[in-house]
Amino acid sequence: MSTDFKIEYLRNYIRFNRIVFGLLLAMALFVRGSGFTDSNFVIIYYSLAAIFMLIFDEIIFTGRVQKIEQKKAKFPTILIQIRTYLYVTIMSVGAIFKVLPSILLVSILLSIIYIIVQDMFFSDMFNTFSNLLRLIITMTVSSVLLYFVQFRHQVDGAWLLMFVVSTALTLLVTYIIYDIYSATIKSMDDKYTKLYFTNTDLMAENDKLIEFREKVEKVNSEINYQRINLTKANDDLEKTNEETRSLIEVMKYFSASFEVEKNVHVMLDNIMNVKKAGAVGFYIDKDVYMNDEPCLDVIAVNSVSGTLIKQDLIDIYNLIKKRNTVDPLVLCENYDFKYPFLTGGNICNAVAFPAYENESVYGVMVVTSSKYEFFLNGYSFYESSVMDFTSALISDRLYLKTEDMAKKDGLTKIYNRIYFNQFYPELKDEVSGTGETLTVAMMDIDHFKKVNDTYGHLAGDEVIKMVAKVDAKYAKKYGGTAVRFGGEEFLLILKGVGINEAYNILDDMHKEIVDTVVEFEDLKIKVNVSMGLASYPETCEDVGEVVDRSDQALYYSKEHGRGRITIDGREGE
Ligand code: GH3
Ligand code: MG
Ligand code: MG
Repeated sequence: MSTDFKIEYLRNYIRFNRIVFGLLLAMALFVRGSGFTDSNFVIIYYSLAAIFMLIFDEIIFTGRVQKIEQKKAKFPTILIQIRTYLYVTIMSVGAIFKVLPSILLVSILLSIIYIIVQDMFFSDMFNTFSNLLRLIITMTVSSVLLYFVQFRHQVDGAWLLMFVVSTALTLLVTYIIYDIYSATIKSMDDKYTKLYFTNTDLMAENDKLIEFREKVEKVNSEINYQRINLTKANDDLEKTNEETRSLIEVMKYFSASFEVEKNVHVMLDNIMNVKKAGAVGFYIDKDVYMNDEPCLDVIAVNSVSGTLIKQDLIDIYNLIKKRNTVDPLVLCENYDFKYPFLTGGNICNAVAFPAYENESVYGVMVVTSSKYEFFLNGYSFYESSVMDFTSALISDRLYLKTEDMAKKDGLTKIYNRIYFNQFYPELKDEVSGTGETLTVAMMDIDHFKKVNDTYGHLAGDEVIKMVAKVDAKYAKKYGGTAVRFGGEEFLLILKGVGINEAYNILDDMHKEIVDTVVEFEDLKIKVNVSMGLASYPETCEDVGEVVDRSDQALYYSKEHGRGRITIDGREGE
């Protein structure tokens, strides 16, 4: 019998015991009151016995049940056995001293059986031989005491038979009850066990389900995470696509244009649009694409960062040029300035991208932003931009060189007659009718044949180069155009310069030519030039006649002593 069931039965027994012992007490009082006996001893003895058993039970059971339930105390098997002997003895012994009335005797006998049955239930008495033996001895002793002592004067065969039969019957009935009881308990126990295991199985199943659900949730969150990653990757891809498309558009522009400065601007504009930078600047050294001056272009969202870039770009270029790498140079990373550039504005990030050709740096692009972690996605877009620009620049330069070669004279590098024939008609159209001045000076080296004859053609070439160089210098100085018009004949075309100013310019120029000594090998050669000057609208009303009239003035100079300057229409002066 399981402890759980024993506890449950124990609870019930405590309740019944109170009734049974109460009844015993009542019976003791009743037999005296009703006159079944006149012995005070019997009343006192059995009243005290009933009270004692009541108190004893309260002490050993009532307080203990809870403790057993809470597993703080063990089930009191031994104590119950002692209790059985004690109660049976107490109740039997009373009969030794006095003859009990039959009604009390029967009550005591029933009480004894009741106590023994309790012991049987609690101790599984029939399960072991020693317990069974104990039961028989207890029954026998109590019966002997009760029967033989009680009926010591009247014992005969019928009483003895009655005693044996009643004892056997009691045992048999008890055994049957016990057996039915244990079977019921067992089947209940089985059911309970089955239920317990089913419950355990269910709980295990439940645990598995919970575990599975957790796994599903984990997978779900992983999928979610991956989906976020995928969305981000998609966004990045879209961005890269957009950047690539913009680079292609810029490349298209480059391929259609040979104007380097415009290309620079288009590239910077694209970077501003695509990357939403704060400012972007580009610097190209001089003489990179036939440019006499460096090229500098800046686009900025606010004027402060634009000014900062304009200020520092040349210094940054010089720094970049000194390095022996063409990798991007971080100037400032999240407000951490690594060089003393671009400070004082609201710049948070700045990187310099060298523009280079065959590892040789020719320029630099600087990109800045006020945003934190602006260059988190790397530099490839900026590097690609500069690289695309460089390849465009190389072809631009080739084109410009070819174009320049076609326009310019091979010996003197100033414009040739062919190019003059191209641009001069346009120039005439430009000024005609607007009243704008167009002055043309024509010059011819005096006695040049003699130079050739005396010093040789190579020396003659050097002289031609010297005069052309001076011509070009004055053209540049006064915003005009120098042209090699013939073998040793040159033009200086000055737009927007009046005849008197032009005369002064020519005078200076003439002096410089006369004073310049051409050194060739060991030779020192000096030459003079004759000049003629004509101007529209001052000396000739028809712009189409200016060149001819300057030629005529030159002719006048040649005819009148050479080495002089003649103004059209003022030949005599
Ligand atoms: P004048 O003072 O009248 O101008 O006398 P000149 O000797 O200079 O006569 P002209 O202007 O007719 O002479 C032109 C000479 O210049 C003829 C030609 O041999 C020479 N010449 C033309 N082109 C070149 C050139 O590219 N190199 C050299 N060395 N000589 C050239
Ligand atoms: Mg000549
Ligand atoms: Mg000449």
